Amino acid sequence: MTVTLNTLHGPQTDLADDDLEALRVRLRGALMCPSSSSALSATREVFNAMHAGRPAVIAQCAGVADVREALNFARAHDLAVAVRGGGHSVAGLSAIDNGMLIDLSAMCAVQVDPERRLAHVQGGASWGDVDRDTQVFGLATPGGVVSDTGVGGLALGGGYGWLRRKYGLSCDNVLQAQVVCADGEVRTASAEHNPDLFWAIRGGGGNFGIVTSFTFRLHPVGPVVAFAAPCYPLEDVAGVLRGWRDYVPGTPDEVSSVVVTLTFPAVPELPEVLHNRPCVVVGGVYAAGSGDVSPEDAMQVLAPLRQLGTPVFDMSQPMPYTMVQSGFDPLFPRNTLRAYWKSQYLGELSDDAIDVIAGRALDRPTPLTLVNTLHMGGAIGAVGPEQTAFAERSAPFMVSIDGHWHDPAADQLTIGWVRSAWESVKPFGTGAVYLNFTGLADEPRQTGVDDALGRNLRRLAEIKATYDPENFFRCNNNILPAGVTCAG
Ligand code: FAD
Repeated sequence: MTVTLNTLHGPQTDLADDDLEALRVRLRGALMCPSSSSALSATREVFNAMHAGRPAVIAQCAGVADVREALNFARAHDLAVAVRGGGHSVAGLSAIDNGMLIDLSAMCAVQVDPERRLAHVQGGASWGDVDRDTQVFGLATPGGVVSDTGVGGLALGGGYGWLRRKYGLSCDNVLQAQVVCADGEVRTASAEHNPDLFWAIRGGGGNFGIVTSFTFRLHPVGPVVAFAAPCYPLEDVAGVLRGWRDYVPGTPDEVSSVVVTLTFPAVPELPEVLHNRPCVVVGGVYAAGSGDVSPEDAMQVLAPLRQLGTPVFDMSQPMPYTMVQSGFDPLFPRNTLRAYWKSQYLGELSDDAIDVIAGRALDRPTPLTLVNTLHMGGAIGAVGPEQTAFAERSAPFMVSIDGHWHDPAADQLTIGWVRSAWESVKPFGTGAVYLNFTGLADEPRQTGVDDALGRNLRRLAEIKATYDPENFFRCNNNILPAGVTCAG
């Protein structure tokens, strides 16, 4: 039997059983040829049902040696490859049709060194894996706000969460990474070793190799933190945004907050009063460890977030950090929702901008389509725009428009609505976007790359040319190697 796969440089190629067997015996993990759906379901599904992908071959790696074997095999046969960390790419960047999938989901170990406040995290771990083990020691590193999101894609592309204003982006907390590069070499990326690679992986995404492990700096957080989440009627969104805009500039860096508009689903995890209720939720966390401000005192700092109107329901309370980090999980099941997101940074949140954002929040096309406004600043700006590949450090706000729907027949309508909402906010934007919040429909993979990486793009292209001159890693927010003009 043969398997037909897409190649990087030319027409499709056929792999015979013997070829695949040669790889299978070299792997500790599994090699699957998913002609059947049962083989596919053995792999972690992706979040975005619009980009499920049908790989012809899946290498489910068990460690760095497997990653290197899979990569060398793909290179030898010129195979088109996608790398999957957590599978949460909204743009479907870890999905591939008729190519080879290098799946890291079995590589999810976390090792915590509480004395040195470090966590060594394998490249396929989720943020839930990291929080679970670091919180045993009352420690955390900035991660995403949904526990199921992968560490790999999120940290390589930046990473905003509830600790962002106090401890910066996820990528700012990476101290070292082990990277399997396109030539099959395993390199250490850190301030001392391959500093150009280290610079590039902190914001440049999966362009430079497969990260098999990260070392993160940890900070004292929780185990209980102050959490605010009043749910106001959506009709009040403009007033709530104004009140929030006026409150946040005076908050300490410990406070990270966001205004989210959505219609809650009627699920048993939520109180009945919220079922099918369009709301504007003001989420906030005060990042502190057990030796700092008590969660009860921190709740006082967050109190103004709860006084921006008359809530339909208020979920605010001191809460275990791990619960805050997983509380929104039920809204984002895997392989169920179709998704298309677009974001942009704002230099200020003027009354006019608020009116536009509020107007779009009120005419969302589907219940789970979110219009989010995030407060930035604090530690994010303590890192210079050229100190890491992640260039956008100064905007105080970001707006993210997250289209979510179920029916494939609604693809065109919802994607069109997200694009039009984004266009209407654009006059207030700085021109920069956040790559991890980019969806793709009919756009090429370089979409948004220039606007996100901006001043750092040229240096990134040079580093790409050093470590991946043939653009082997192209199933990502693709940076073309310097001198190359087309992804191929
Ligand atoms: P994957 O789909 O596995 O991969 C995405 C890209 O990263 C691919 O190009 C892949 O090849 C590459 N990649 C992944 N792992 C590795 C690795 N180990 N080595 C090399 N390349 C790798 N972002 C935030 O900043 N904050 C949030 O709070 C947040 N919440 C989210 C919630 C949901 C429900 C979703 C869907 C997304 C969220 N995001 C958030 C966006 C998130 O950062 C990106 O979707 C990110 O790509 C997810 O990483 P992943 O490993 O799960 O993705």
